Amino acid sequence: MEPLQDAQSPQDPRAIRRLLEQLVAGSPIAMAVLDGAEYRFRIANPAFAILAGGRPLIGCTYAEVFPDLAPAHLPSIDHVYRVGGGATIDDASLTLDRGRGPEQSRWRFSFTPLYEQSGAIVGVQCYAVEATWRAAEMLAEQEKDAFLSIASHELRTPLTTLKGLTQIAHRRLATGHDLGKARANLAMASQQIVRLEELLNKILDTGRIKAGELPLAIERCDLSEIVRVAVLRAQATTDRHTIKLKGDEVALPIDADSQKIEQVLINLLYNAIKFDPQGGRIEVTIEASGDRALVRVCDSGIGIPSEGRARLFEPFYRGPNASLRHFSGLGIGLYLSLQIAQRHGGRLWLEATGESGSVFALELPIAAEPG
Ligand code: ADP
Repeated sequence: MEPLQDAQSPQDPRAIRRLLEQLVAGSPIAMAVLDGAEYRFRIANPAFAILAGGRPLIGCTYAEVFPDLAPAHLPSIDHVYRVGGGATIDDASLTLDRGRGPEQSRWRFSFTPLYEQSGAIVGVQCYAVEATWRAAEMLAEQEKDAFLSIASHELRTPLTTLKGLTQIAHRRLATGHDLGKARANLAMASQQIVRLEELLNKILDTGRIKAGELPLAIERCDLSEIVRVAVLRAQATTDRHTIKLKGDEVALPIDADSQKIEQVLINLLYNAIKFDPQGGRIEVTIEASGDRALVRVCDSGIGIPSEGRARLFEPFYRGPNASLRHFSGLGIGLYLSLQIAQRHGGRLWLEATGESGSVFALELPIAAEPG
């Protein structure tokens, strides 16, 4: 199709009118034009006719076509017609039969003036968009707001602890007393710095993955060694949980970004610790099956209710039993972990869950050639 402003575009007003009529008729957005004191339909495209149940509209008044909507809409239409500007009415309810029987749906109606050449208003244009489009927009906005508020909360907590610890250590160092305690304060402060760094990296990685830009430094490494390091790091953060590792005696060569794989395991282990607030036993097993390596992280925590399971790996999703008051978190750990596993040709899934705990499984290809 040629662009409209092309040199070959028709100059003839009738030809232009035909083009515009085609444009309006083909639009998936419901469009109509009303005029006269009673607001009669002069133009309505097929998408708009569906809103009227498919019956003929042209010449009918707005009140005849939409008796239920008219009391709420006519004052706005009136205002647009007399004063100008625009008006939007959200949440107009219509019962339509679109081939699946009568269904209720919600619509957003917008009214704008139609001007003639002199500048006088000669009618009102009406557009209607199904509110599910709008709902998706609103949901995205709400999710963004929720993320910002959770992220600032998550960042503030370690920052506040960090501030307190360094202030105390500073005072102790200044007086020269309790130097041993000052050293312990600084050790705890550096743990908080690591936590902050991990959190920021997660947020950055989520952005990079969404933009398709997460760089991987692939090299030959030993999965058993990566798991051992992750287990030691996780164990160092808790004395209420015991992490048992089985099956790491044999080296398992993989071609991977070892830091990213460690990050996946750390995410799984931190979750196993976090979602088992009573403290308990966490079991990590490694096994090889053919050309695949399988790591399982089993905890004895709160489990995941059935209504949350399907969405666990979505970005920013937090389970129905993971309220922020009891369990901190941004809801991006599993999303990131799955993306990293997949970028390595692997898989990550929830293998089992119940009131006595959960099992997450990570599968990665074992390197075929000698490194
Ligand atoms: P976060 O832990 O920051 O909320 P994740 O993406 O790591 O985010 O996890 C998403 C959700 O999955 C959590 O909010 C929680 O509901 C659930 N979940 C993950 N791991 C576990 C686990 N080991 N036990 C119970 N629930 C879990």
